[in-house]
Amino acid sequence: MSLIVMKFGGSSVGDAERMKRVANRVVERQREGNQCVVVVSAMGDTTDDLIDLSKQICSVTPPAREMDMLLTTGEQVSVALLSMAIQSLGQPALSFTGWQAGMYTEGVHGKARITDIQPKRILNALNQGNVVIVAGFQGMTTEGEITTLGRGGSDTTAVALAAAIEADVCEIFTDVDGIYSTDPRVVKCARKLPEITYDEMLELANLGAAVLHPRAVEYAKNYNVPLVVRSSFNHNAGTNVKEEAAMEQGIVVRGIASDKNVARISILGIEEKPGQLAKVFTALAKEQIDVDIIVQSGIMNGQADFSFTVSLTDKDRALEVIQGIRSEVGFREVSSQENLVKVSIVGAGMVSTPGVAAKMFEVISDLGLSINMVSTSEIKTSCVIDNSRLNEVIQALHTAYGLDTDTTVFVGGPQDRR
Ligand code: ASP
Ligand code: MG
Repeated sequence: MSLIVMKFGGSSVGDAERMKRVANRVVERQREGNQCVVVVSAMGDTTDDLIDLSKQICSVTPPAREMDMLLTTGEQVSVALLSMAIQSLGQPALSFTGWQAGMYTEGVHGKARITDIQPKRILNALNQGNVVIVAGFQGMTTEGEITTLGRGGSDTTAVALAAAIEADVCEIFTDVDGIYSTDPRVVKCARKLPEITYDEMLELANLGAAVLHPRAVEYAKNYNVPLVVRSSFNHNAGTNVKEEAAMEQGIVVRGIASDKNVARISILGIEEKPGQLAKVFTALAKEQIDVDIIVQSGIMNGQADFSFTVSLTDKDRALEVIQGIRSEVGFREVSSQENLVKVSIVGAGMVSTPGVAAKMFEVISDLGLSINMVSTSEIKTSCVIDNSRLNEVIQALHTAYGLDTDTTVFVGGPQDRR
């Protein structure tokens, strides 16, 4: 008998029919002799719709506390309906909100981190023979305030619960068959990966592969929770995410990701003296603006230029912040650029294989494109380039790193973003 956490995303429970299909799948699993805890997201586009509704009510940003109160209703609808669907199949089931399930978080509305899980109620319900259904994406502070974990946070609920109850596996059901070497909608011969390491998955998730929430992967890595990403629409084997993953001979790049949510900001002619960069980045951090790649160019006449990337959605705020510290820091000019994309190659074997990054630069320059910025880590190389020919670039890289195959055919709809 295994203890399994199964997580179903919004599109997997998008309507009553799909909900029933999920119920069947869960009951099938339970009747094979397993104990199942099911985590669900809000149905279909519910969360987006609720956000739209709040915008119709509020002309300014809605109060964060009430926003959490609103958004958590989406998942509550799902757990109640799924429990009904499972019970109609003759299988005892009990639904729980995040707080009933003992999910405690810090008090940051809209992107709270889980601080503690007290799964006693869940374990009791399981031991009484129930399928347990838990609302994803939500928790409660020790003061009893309702919180959410950030968009896509149901994955994190599932993995955190799996860690807390020491589940044998956490299965993430979505509308794609698993993790692909790159977006199958872009590269037709993208291959489904049988295995991937936590670290590689974390990079891909952070780089914009929307299948898994980055924090969920972090959690899985920290607590060593075996993860499987698979389709809720078929029984194909999915992708195993684990500590170590096998690599085919001669292949060092596991996957290619791209992120268009990137803008470059350049500060030109900044006075060169100690502490300048610290001032700029502290000011940005205070506004919760994440900075990604940072490049400083040579110093001339006591002045330096430097550029960094932020997400496109943060660009305007970042520019405001920088204008705000202009007199304190002293610089000649600040400029920004959009229409960029960050393309990244990821593979745990890269660090010990020379020439991997060089090949990437060559492929991009062979297409006649220039590279604006580069960053590297042990397991990835990212280049910021003009976004107009992204698909061509990804295809060329896919081929260059030996990732093309025509044996795996992509099945399924658009990647689940919930
Ligand atoms: N319903 C939430 C969202 O749409 C959480 C999730 O689906 O994981 O972001
Ligand atoms: Mg998701």
